[in-house]
Amino acid sequence: MDSTYANILDGKALVQRIQAQLGEQVTQLSSTIGRSPGLAVLMVGDNPASAAYVRGKERACAAVGIASFGRHFPTNTSQKELEQTIDALNQDERFDGILVQLPLPDHLDSVSLLHQIHPDKDVDGLHPVNLGRLVRGEPGLRSCTPDGVMRLLREYQIPVKGKQAVVVGRSILVGKPMALMLLEADATVTIAHSRSQNLKELTQNADILIAAVGRPHMITADMVKPNSVVIDVGINRIPTESGKSRLVGDVDFDAVREVAQYITPVPGGVGAMTVAMLLHNTVLSYTRTHS
Ligand code: NDP
Repeated sequence: MDSTYANILDGKALVQRIQAQLGEQVTQLSSTIGRSPGLAVLMVGDNPASAAYVRGKERACAAVGIASFGRHFPTNTSQKELEQTIDALNQDERFDGILVQLPLPDHLDSVSLLHQIHPDKDVDGLHPVNLGRLVRGEPGLRSCTPDGVMRLLREYQIPVKGKQAVVVGRSILVGKPMALMLLEADATVTIAHSRSQNLKELTQNADILIAAVGRPHMITADMVKPNSVVIDVGINRIPTESGKSRLVGDVDFDAVREVAQYITPVPGGVGAMTVAMLLHNTVLSYTRTHS
């Protein structure tokens, strides 16, 4: 490594290792259990970004031997029809996980649909029962994106205990569960959000800084403590000069890598880990059902 630049936390490389481990586990278990793990992926409408995410998840499932069953519904599908589908999948023993690809069209109540998924099949870890288990520190299916961040920190042996961690963003999808997981790992945690005052003062004290905001490059080098760990959850599409677009994170990567000790790239950092944790949760649910 060049000593003036931060070490890259390479989510993409780690995902290869996680997938290989999960693949071995699935091969061993499926001969005893008599079937492969099953994941149902429900998508409504034709949002191109969602379709691309679903394809990525299905490819990842195939790579580890999880049978994925994509159900693609037209945009005008009713809440009731989706509820009935989820009910049927909850009862169906072939499925260890059920995933509703977000966002859903406006006429649908996504929160109520997510709550309808049986907590033991909630592989996205977003059901209140699983979030409650996280709050209580009990085992359960954890939210994929923050769990992916924790796994990345563990694999790179980055100490968390006793460290000052600052999470920028407080969504139920990322920020809040992220803060709880860091707390569970004995960090001292601060959560910042759009109403926080003196954001820079907060972030400058962070040994571990997590950006989960959705604003391109908002974390600049002067906001980062020297030799800290910077995790970029943000995924933002910005236009390029050539008229195309590219993905960037919430962190000004080129500048911050000269200050931090560790940094995640976008793409190839947290995003890759999120899908790996979905596979992990599906296999966990499969093994739990059969243990
Ligand atoms: P939300 O829009 O739900 O939440 C954004 C959070 O950022 C809110 O808590 C908001 O505060 C806070 N915020 C907004 N502006 C500021 C500001 N100026 N200063 C400080 N805080 C601010 O987004 P998500 O949590 O769903 O996603 C965040 C980012 O992570 C997005 O780019 C998303 O695409 C990405 N993402 C990436 C995933 C991955 O796999 N890598 C998975 C999920 C999301 P307030 O609550 O006050 O409004």
